[in-house]
Amino acid sequence: MAYNPIQFQHGMSLPEFLQSFGTESACGEAVLRARWPDGFVCPRCGGCAHCILFSVGRPLFQCLGCHRQTSLTAGSLFGSTKLPLTKWFLAIYLLSQAKTGLSALELKRHIGVSYPTAWLMHHKIMTAMATRETQHRLSGTVQVDDAYLGGERAGGKPGRGSENKVPFVAAISLNDDGNPLYVKFTPVPGFTSQAISLWARANLAVGANVLSDGLACFAAVIDAECTHTVEVVGQRKPRDLPQFKWVNTVLGNLKTMLSGAYKAFGYAKYAERYLGAFAYRFNRRFNLADLVVRLVVDVCRYRAAPAHVIRQA
Ligand SMILES: [Zn+2]
Repeated sequence: MAYNPIQFQHGMSLPEFLQSFGTESACGEAVLRARWPDGFVCPRCGGCAHCILFSVGRPLFQCLGCHRQTSLTAGSLFGSTKLPLTKWFLAIYLLSQAKTGLSALELKRHIGVSYPTAWLMHHKIMTAMATRETQHRLSGTVQVDDAYLGGERAGGKPGRGSENKVPFVAAISLNDDGNPLYVKFTPVPGFTSQAISLWARANLAVGANVLSDGLACFAAVIDAECTHTVEVVGQRKPRDLPQFKWVNTVLGNLKTMLSGAYKAFGYAKYAERYLGAFAYRFNRRFNLADLVVRLVVDVCRYRAAPAHVIRQA
């Protein structure tokens, strides 16, 4: 088997991670730096002058202007968590490293919390990853394909009639050598021109050259000022064509992850966050050590929805 420098890169080992984020104070420092990179700012009045009080071992910032007290984690994804930050950070580490996914059940065992707690942590972190993924657009050459979660072939083209099936656009941008750069997996209401037009305007940069197998709706990418090239597939399936090699390779990886780690989940409810979390890891595969640190920052900055919203999706 060929040596793949991406797969064999050093990354960040667990001992290295613990050296950086193994104590409550180190994690607290990281949250502080991520949320207020230029120093604490009062969320009520915008003032910077403050003093630090301590409550249950955690810093509490008191604004000298309006006297509002703000905890280190208030309004963040960690919220009013009773859990030590070290457990949250370990969960972030494990989820960032799990190329083939990590179920809430495994997370429960690794960090020693109840299943409902592990499930919520898992979903909150995935939501932060998926939200971050919505902030960038694909540019240059972009292969697209129509795919489904929960069909006969997860991420592939199923027959009709399956329930719990979610259509999504699989898109991958390529560099000038034809190698993959970034993916986006986006659930859509269906493969209609209207849905693809909306998708393209939110997810593609102006001037992208989109390559599709000619499914009529993909012509709507021109609404986003992109060009559209059609490869007529005929009797062959797109997965057999070299032009669609990368989009199909990544869909295959997604299928492996879903069938290995998760078996089945409420696709209709949670598709966006599972797909977003997969894309988050894929898009940062060139620098696995940096991925951990970036995920720490993205999770710390994410303003989480309350638990009942996370459960309902
Ligand atoms: Zn204030």
